[in-house]
Amino acid sequence: MTHTVPLPTASGLAALEARLRQDLDVLELPAKPWVPQRQHNGVAARDVVVIGAGMCGLAAVAKLQLTGIDNVVAYDAAPAGMEGPWLTFARMETLRSPKTLAGPALGLPALTFRAWFTAQWGDEAWLALDKIPKNLWMDYLIWYRKVLNLPVHNNVRLTAIEQAGSLIALDIDGAETGRLFTRHLVLATGRSGLGGMAIPDFLQGVNHRWWAHSADEIDFAALRGKRLAVIGAGASAMDNAATALEAGAGAVDMLIRRKTMPRINKMTGISSPGVIHGMHLLPDAWKWKFVDYSAATQTPPPRSSTLRVSRHPNARFFLDCGIVAVKEQADGLLIETTQGKMHYDFLIAATGFTNDFNGRPEFTAIAPHIRSWSDGRYHAEMGPPRQTMLAAPDLGPAFEFRERVPGNCPMLAHIHCFNDAAMLTHGKVSGDIPAISTGAERLVLGITASLFAEDVDRHFNNLTAYDNPELQGDEWTDSTPLLKQENTL
Ligand SMILES: Cc1cc2nc3c(=O)[nH]c(=O)nc-3n(C[C@H](O)[C@H](O)[C@H](O)COP(=O)(O)OP(=O)(O)OC[C@H]3O[C@@H](n4cnc5c(N)ncnc54)[C@H](O)[C@@H]3O)c2cc1C
Repeated sequence: MTHTVPLPTASGLAALEARLRQDLDVLELPAKPWVPQRQHNGVAARDVVVIGAGMCGLAAVAKLQLTGIDNVVAYDAAPAGMEGPWLTFARMETLRSPKTLAGPALGLPALTFRAWFTAQWGDEAWLALDKIPKNLWMDYLIWYRKVLNLPVHNNVRLTAIEQAGSLIALDIDGAETGRLFTRHLVLATGRSGLGGMAIPDFLQGVNHRWWAHSADEIDFAALRGKRLAVIGAGASAMDNAATALEAGAGAVDMLIRRKTMPRINKMTGISSPGVIHGMHLLPDAWKWKFVDYSAATQTPPPRSSTLRVSRHPNARFFLDCGIVAVKEQADGLLIETTQGKMHYDFLIAATGFTNDFNGRPEFTAIAPHIRSWSDGRYHAEMGPPRQTMLAAPDLGPAFEFRERVPGNCPMLAHIHCFNDAAMLTHGKVSGDIPAISTGAERLVLGITASLFAEDVDRHFNNLTAYDNPELQGDEWTDSTPLLKQENTL
């Protein structure tokens, strides 16, 4: 079975949900709520607000709840069931990842994609399944949220962040609008969530009617019969080109700057618990070396996505084809490349995302204060000064931001960057499927320790005030002291 699945059985899913409830019960999870309530001017504050309810946000909220931190909420700008890229700009047919990954299951077998799938379609269908169709992955995430009863509110966008005493004030807009307060803020805002789409210089000023970024909404039907240029050689470049070809594009040219296609998925090749748990504890020079090497060697597009393009006779691959300039003309675009001039009706830039926080209005208050690797963490002897890596935030052990100038923005210590931008500091544990549970555990461990330490006086008072006796006093009788006994002998 590849991209279609037969009708599921509801009874199988009900049994799985019962098994999950039992597993949680046996493990005494969720833990009892233990965090004292805080208020701001008489208004109850949240312990943690999570922005984004894609895979990372859901895993973070789930882990917080299991840890007894239940005064938590997640907000997502997208409608329910539409979070993340899966039903919007993810234009591949299946995930790249192997179907067997435990993903956001947080160590609970009944919470895995595999358990969810086999409960409904059986073991035979599991064996027949090749890769996970992307819609099915979204269905699984919807179930994950439902079965754990996670507190997620949709159609709500974070618009501003402000320090409010020891708390953080958040302005939110949409289905719920207003100001709320929280002790910790988790930004699970995805690949584009801290910056935005990376737009190359040669497209600056070019009218948007002629081009789109690969993560834009694109009217592929309008490309029927048209000449299309796709810039890039990554997975998104292939998926967008294939979608256009399948929608009847007249001709699609892949314009690829590199001389050869990257062919080896290096980091996947060395994946291990060592990499997942050890990378963030390595000296900075080693972290730099790993990420720099991965950036230089690049991740190849999946074979299936590449074949989905090349099987069309009207698709062409131009390697070693850098873009010199893009000029608007009356009937389309003139693209000057290192291989000559070409005419197109439309261009799709599959050029990825940036971590430039300055481009996002909701981060205006924090952006200038966020310490990045360029602020002293990078040293020339680590390797070449790659711009995207220099801009990466310099994070603490719980993904918390650090201040560029100590004292200028103290709330950063309580704002956690739980998304792709954390990779240089933490390894790949807050963006992709394979190690997301480890990322959520690391994040929640840090938040737990911080919430406990901040309330340590109250916890100590609880210790001294606790007076529930285990012994009733009638379990023994005091014997006459030995000395007295000797004297009477
Ligand atoms: C096309 C594509 C294919 C991928 N395929 C794979 C794969 O096969 N295997 C793999 O391991 N990884 C894959 N990834 C990488 C990764 O798994 C996904 O990017 C995944 O969606 C990451 O989850 P996330 O929660 O970090 O971000 P997202 O799923 O993007 O969720 C972020 C959420 O934050 C919300 N948000 C952002 N800003 C705000 C705001 N201000 N207010 C409120 N809400 C906000 C957004 O609406 C969004 O729903 C893929 C990524 C892409 C883009």
